[in-house]
Amino acid sequence: MSEVTQSPSTKVSPAIVWFRDDLRLGDNPALSAAVASGLPLLLVYIWDEHNKEVRQLGGASKWWLHGSLNSLCASISPRGGNLQLFVGDTKTTILELAKASGATEVYWNRRYGEAEVELDKHIKEQLKLAGITTRSFNGQLLNEPWEVSTKAGTPMKVFTPYWRAARERGEPARPTPAPQKLIPFATPALKSVPLEALNLKPTKPDWSGEMQAFWKPGEDHAKQSVERFLSDAVDGYGENRNRPDKRSTSRLSPHLRFGEISPRQIWHATRTAFENGNTVGKEYDVDKFLTEIGWREFSYHLLFHFPKLRSANFQSKFNAFPWKTDSKALLAWQQGKTGYPIVDAGMRELWRTGWMHNRVRMIVGSFLVKHLLIDWRQGEDWFWDTLVDADPASNAASWQWIAGSGADAAPYFRIFAPVIQGEKFDPNGDYVRHYVPELARLPKQVIHKPWTAPHPILTKAGITLGIDYPHPIVVHEDARKRALAAFKSISAEQISDDQH
Ligand code: FAD
Repeated sequence: MSEVTQSPSTKVSPAIVWFRDDLRLGDNPALSAAVASGLPLLLVYIWDEHNKEVRQLGGASKWWLHGSLNSLCASISPRGGNLQLFVGDTKTTILELAKASGATEVYWNRRYGEAEVELDKHIKEQLKLAGITTRSFNGQLLNEPWEVSTKAGTPMKVFTPYWRAARERGEPARPTPAPQKLIPFATPALKSVPLEALNLKPTKPDWSGEMQAFWKPGEDHAKQSVERFLSDAVDGYGENRNRPDKRSTSRLSPHLRFGEISPRQIWHATRTAFENGNTVGKEYDVDKFLTEIGWREFSYHLLFHFPKLRSANFQSKFNAFPWKTDSKALLAWQQGKTGYPIVDAGMRELWRTGWMHNRVRMIVGSFLVKHLLIDWRQGEDWFWDTLVDADPASNAASWQWIAGSGADAAPYFRIFAPVIQGEKFDPNGDYVRHYVPELARLPKQVIHKPWTAPHPILTKAGITLGIDYPHPIVVHEDARKRALAAFKSISAEQISDDQH
């Protein structure tokens, strides 16, 4: 716990900069405004693990946060500043910090979840009563959720018009550079804690080995990821982004989640590289990439206007959906042991690296809610705990999209066939070979459907089904019919016979 006491030696009042989901120095409007005030800065991060209202981070995200804070501390120090970490109740800690330091102003960048908005409102009121000014900024989005709306002024529910309206607002503001110098507030009596005291890293057991090899949290690495993507992978992104067997996407999602980079920085880096001919990406690829950033924006728009996005079906007819309780099937899905190689590869990629390719997220999500008839909220929960990019808006919005219960969602009756999906998007089976090594020796013709392989081929590949790799836990055609029947029970909608 932090100990906060009045410091008699403090002469000049500081400005407090409260870091939250904005763990960067560049294009950080709250920080820039605080620097511009000319006051000495008290830079703080508060870890409040007992807060019941704000959703606690999952294990993988905590691991990321440790790296991100470590990196932020390291970039602040050479500029003369000092990031102070506190463990405790957010409301009381920020108030005590402000009072004890004699701060006159508190700066932060806004968050958009219901509980976070409520918390910020409460803190703002408390600080105001104490005579302290708060100043909040948009550091997380291209457009505030309330800046884009229908002509009637209501929230948007469909992506395409949302994105058109967002683009019509013009280019996002240019990002601001990181401040070179940070004037620290002399704080002998404010006792912060070392990063280790936040206990963010897993210990018993430490499951983060592969994640450490895979990821480098922090602002510098976020910038490098953008540069690498623009000089290399963006070429063909429009098509290749669906291919989990290729390194074809930016992998910026955890950096964005923790605000190590802003969407404005990504936007302008991409547009500038394209206009100057400094990217291998064609116009279509670049546009497609920026449209994906648009999906993130749309998710925040939904979260802000429909605050129960994570817990309640956006389309209320899904309240009557006959979800099944099947802990055995749920476990097989979580562990990547469903017997469908593309599903299992995705779930194991998630477990090992804390990330999963978007196409595969859609396949595994569809499998959970349609083949297994398990409530999308259970999938959302599992992703929340295991993703390094677990995001309050994108995770909930995407799960509702997959379940068919969301705004502008994929129709429920569009049921991904895992074998067809695997053969289409991992045509040689390389992705499956990597994450499901027991299948590595199967030829590509059967790697997505090992149960159809003739016995000698299985033997040659060293596989006995049911022992080395499971039989499918459901038969696709049966599961499909069952899912369509379940959907029919809640909907009068025409059901098409698409096979995807
Ligand atoms: P790129 O293709 O390089 O895209 C660039 C950025 O655009 C991403 O970093 C991300 O911020 C944004 N983006 C891309 N696709 C989407 C999308 N469909 N929806 C919203 N934003 C998008 N994304 C998260 O950031 N956090 C989540 O918790 C999350 N949960 C998901 C759950 C499900 C069931 C599904 C289907 C998708 C989920 N996504 C989530 C969206 C998407 O899968 C990831 O953003 C993407 O895979 C991240 O990889 P990337 O950075 O290489 O993406």
